[in-house]
Amino acid sequence: MNAQRKRNIVIVGGGIIGSSTAYYISRHPRFNPALHTVTLLEATSIAAGASGKAGGLLALWAYPTCLVPLSYALHRDLAAKHNGAERWGYRRLGCGSLAATVSKNGIETRAPKPPSPPADNGTNGELPIQSTVPDEKTKDWEKLPKQDGNAAGLLQDSPLPPDLDWIDGRLIQHYEEMGSPGATETAQVHPFYFTNAMADLAREKGVDIRLRAKVTKINDTKTAGVHSVAYEDRDTGKTHTIGDVTDVIVAAGPWTGKLVPRTKVEGLRAHSVVFEADVSPYAVFTDIQLPTDYIPEHRASQGQKRRHKGNVDPEIYARPFGEVYACGEPDKTIPLPATADEVSTDESQCDDLIAYIGTISPALASAPVKARQACYLPQHIRFGEQRGPLIGPTSVPGLWVAAGHTCWGIQNGPGTGYLMAGMIFGDGVEEEVGSLDPRKFKV
Ligand SMILES: Cc1cc2nc3c(=O)[nH]c(=O)nc-3n(C[C@H](O)[C@H](O)[C@H](O)COP(=O)(O)OP(=O)(O)OC[C@H]3O[C@@H](n4cnc5c(N)ncnc54)[C@H](O)[C@@H]3O)c2cc1C
Repeated sequence: MNAQRKRNIVIVGGGIIGSSTAYYISRHPRFNPALHTVTLLEATSIAAGASGKAGGLLALWAYPTCLVPLSYALHRDLAAKHNGAERWGYRRLGCGSLAATVSKNGIETRAPKPPSPPADNGTNGELPIQSTVPDEKTKDWEKLPKQDGNAAGLLQDSPLPPDLDWIDGRLIQHYEEMGSPGATETAQVHPFYFTNAMADLAREKGVDIRLRAKVTKINDTKTAGVHSVAYEDRDTGKTHTIGDVTDVIVAAGPWTGKLVPRTKVEGLRAHSVVFEADVSPYAVFTDIQLPTDYIPEHRASQGQKRRHKGNVDPEIYARPFGEVYACGEPDKTIPLPATADEVSTDESQCDDLIAYIGTISPALASAPVKARQACYLPQHIRFGEQRGPLIGPTSVPGLWVAAGHTCWGIQNGPGTGYLMAGMIFGDGVEEEVGSLDPRKFKV
């Protein structure tokens, strides 16, 4: 591909994927502002969707494996280059998985994890494991799929770290560190600040970022490919068209399927809350067994029934800047609205989350809550199953897709942006993520 020809590139979406793509295009060695025009169109504001409301965990054991190591390393490099520690809170943190049992009087009743069998007991070291996880079929809460089989295989036994003092240790039956023993394989960013920093750094290099600009149509012809993009200015209601477009990169997160239906990228709502609390840096995946008749106070006082079936599993991440973030399970009750600022929050789901977390963390039970929010996870669904993200060219010349990053879009944002920029400038990087090529999925 001749990088020295004129290019008029439009990026749709100012989440982490679109903003990182804009950053890496504007920092590419062959980017020439005299020849290359880059416009990012964002329907609401930068990081208005999941990219501003995610947890921000980065992990080497995330997926897909073709993208994770590159993106994890790029996060480290970006932080070093642009003072990410101060600017977007980049830091290493511990990460573990715990099982807790809360009884009526608050002290555990669950049987402790069985001890490891002796090596010569004639069972090849295998004992039937007593599962404390409820039958998936009877569970009305779904886990965000952060822990796949691979990640679960990396769980290592370890005691509750002494500095993880914001969880009530008396309620914990197991605590297992995530990742390889002794290796720090987890870090974090504050996703809202990170995404905004990427957009600001791209703007500094000449990317034209237009907010409240909702793309309504990408125009193409089968032979010549994309040629123009129409968008609505949401302040004036007027429609504008950017003509002579050579490339359109659709990075519209869960809205990608609305613009390019054959991508089959859609959204799944998830709630989260943010506490004001300065605690030790850990991300914890929980499995909390509640008393069967436990009803959160906010429900009991209104005569409502409990929503849980005994077990709940919020993820809780201590965050930089004196915050703790927690998210609950996704729900399918409200379909994806037209724009990120129209996402509705079900306060009672946030209150449930706060109550469940309070049962194992006295520190968080008494902490002020500074945000109750919801957003939509971008999912690439084929035949009812979740697939990896789509990254690369489509069958339409000049139309590219970078979307469907499920629950690892913050971790994989820089890697996606870097590869998209490489593809745009003809670096031949497609093969690195060949399994995610949209054309393989008839896009
Ligand atoms: C509860 C929760 C917790 C998470 N925690 C983590 C985590 O700890 N670590 C991690 O790696 N990942 C996490 N994720 C996943 C991560 O948030 C997403 O994968 C990522 O933010 C997706 O980024 P995106 O840019 O593709 O989409 P989005 O952030 O949704 O951005 C898409 C943007 O496109 C804009 N847009 C849409 N349509 C148009 C249009 N027609 N015209 C113009 N603009 C448009 C939207 O306004 C939006 O700003 C979490 C997700 C959820 C839901």
